[in-house]
Amino acid sequence: MLSRIAVADDLSTRIEEKIHDLCARSTCILSDMQRLILNEGDFAGAEGLLARLRDLGEMRLFLKDLDQSQQATEDAIFAIGSETLYAAYEKLCEVKTESILYAIGSNFGDIRTVERLIPLKLDKSEMAYASADPIASSKVLIGLEHYGSLLTCYFHAHPGNGSEANHPSSIDINNHTRLEAGNYCTVGGIFSRDGYLRFFTDKMAFRIIISGKGVKRVGADLWKLTATEDVSVH
Ligand SMILES: [Zn+2]
Repeated sequence: MLSRIAVADDLSTRIEEKIHDLCARSTCILSDMQRLILNEGDFAGAEGLLARLRDLGEMRLFLKDLDQSQQATEDAIFAIGSETLYAAYEKLCEVKTESILYAIGSNFGDIRTVERLIPLKLDKSEMAYASADPIASSKVLIGLEHYGSLLTCYFHAHPGNGSEANHPSSIDINNHTRLEAGNYCTVGGIFSRDGYLRFFTDKMAFRIIISGKGVKRVGADLWKLTATEDVSVH
């Protein structure tokens, strides 16, 4: 079995190669843009290429962030795409009461991905409290093992707006204590109704890396979804 350091080094090399590849692609796009503008006067075409260039730039920054995180820390690292966060926010805001979404993913070295959302059957759903049906919850967890997937994250939403509306309650922390005791390496995420998202654990140190657009970091474990006006909230 490869050591943690060997896996980290291998991943770092692959990230470096990918960044190099992205740089080469960016250079090609730049020269294409130059040609379009100077030789063909095609400003619309050049603008399209500029959007691609920006995407590549964002991807490079994300990969650098990923590389530094996995080299510099022993914390559990969770990588999440903004699209998944918006999907979770939208789903949770469909109802006024609390509900819970499990999110599953995989391990890549020390990095856990958060990829697919699974709605969870609740035995209680009130304005400020939701608890998962324990049988339904166990079934989901057993089902994940069958495919080698992992519960990497779970989300719920609190009533209220603002960055202070989504601190974990004592019930939230107690639930997470049980997950940590069961060796689930997972992180909880709580939305406010206006799109603040706070991640939490009980004792496990963690880091979150968010890729994609529309999510801004506003605190240590706090992010804001910046395009919530596009999401229908009830
Ligand atoms: Zn809560």
